[in-house]
Amino acid sequence: MAKRDYYELLGIPKGATADEIKAAFRKAAAKHHPDLNPGDPQAAERFKELNEAHQVLSDPQKRLMYDRFGVEGGGAAGSPFAGGSPFGGANPFAGGGFPFGQGGVVDIGDIAVDGFLGDLLGVFGVGKGDKGDVKRSLEITFEEAAFGCVKNLSFERLEVCGDCTGSGQGANSRIETCPACSGKGRIRFQQGLLPLAVERECTRCKGRGRTIVDPCKGCHGAGLIQKTHKVEVTIPAGTDHGSAKVVPGAGSRPRSDRSPGDLLITVEVKPHPFFKRQGDDVVCTVPIGFPTAALGGEVAVPTLDGKGAMKVPAGTQPGATLRLKGKGIPRRTLGGRGDQLVLVSLEVPTKLTDHQKELLLAFATALGDDVQPEQRGFFDKLKDLFQD
Ligand SMILES: [Zn+2]
Ligand SMILES: [Zn+2]
Repeated sequence: MAKRDYYELLGIPKGATADEIKAAFRKAAAKHHPDLNPGDPQAAERFKELNEAHQVLSDPQKRLMYDRFGVEGGGAAGSPFAGGSPFGGANPFAGGGFPFGQGGVVDIGDIAVDGFLGDLLGVFGVGKGDKGDVKRSLEITFEEAAFGCVKNLSFERLEVCGDCTGSGQGANSRIETCPACSGKGRIRFQQGLLPLAVERECTRCKGRGRTIVDPCKGCHGAGLIQKTHKVEVTIPAGTDHGSAKVVPGAGSRPRSDRSPGDLLITVEVKPHPFFKRQGDDVVCTVPIGFPTAALGGEVAVPTLDGKGAMKVPAGTQPGATLRLKGKGIPRRTLGGRGDQLVLVSLEVPTKLTDHQKELLLAFATALGDDVQPEQRGFFDKLKDLFQD
């Protein structure tokens, strides 16, 4: 049987204020209280329903969820689950295999919590079990990535408390059954809006089922303390941006009696002002003047090894790529190094003196057609095109 709409139950409109909800509940509760209806066996059920409606609608967070997802058979318009609760009859996972059956019990630890389901469980405050993994990024320079380096990485992690060696108990400690879970270590709860019970580890005792009275002073009974841990990370030559490294067991302990998680390092390579990486090759752009391009010569070029020199052959065209063999990134597996690819850009002077202009004009006159074959070819084609 479908549940009745909470607003309808209390006899109030959807936009009712908190005061209106409270007043409506008081009025209805007074009328339906089981003590006042001794001969009516339905009264207790009705009263329970009213109570539930009031509990949800008087809590802004729960009301928002209710308005958005609705209850069984009463999906709110515009809800992604219109027609029912996310796990009701119209649920997207309906039919076979899905762990969320109608009224079923779900151990959150047993299913993969990610994607859509993870988001949804996140909304209900049910998170993925903490394994103690610690994620850190490590920033290095372009040169450090190319040639390798050793870096120190500091991070905070939870370690076993030295004062109590993880027991959480001090000299005067007393152990009591956890009042939150009655010693079971797990809490089963019904969201009220969902037709399922969810079970999770008790947060009060972290699943131990007992709590410590007058606990260890060092860790307040947690058995764990936060400490700064340092690791030395060796970055091999040829490491690229985004490379990841896992250091097993270097993460946090989720609990003093559980093994620590892993440290997950992601390498971030800072951009270089001149160089870009292309596989094992280093690419850069070098501007040269027209005389050098025409006559050839040697120009200064930055390389990974410092200031270098590059021979420019006579007649080098703008956009040409010149190669400096073995000046690239060291190869991790094959050995040797990639090349440095130098893209030649031609710089045209922007300010000329009268004397320079005269020289350039005289040069242009003396140049003729023969020495610029591409230009001659271009004009020949033009002539063909406009013959008549
Ligand atoms: Zn507990
Ligand atoms: Zn301690």
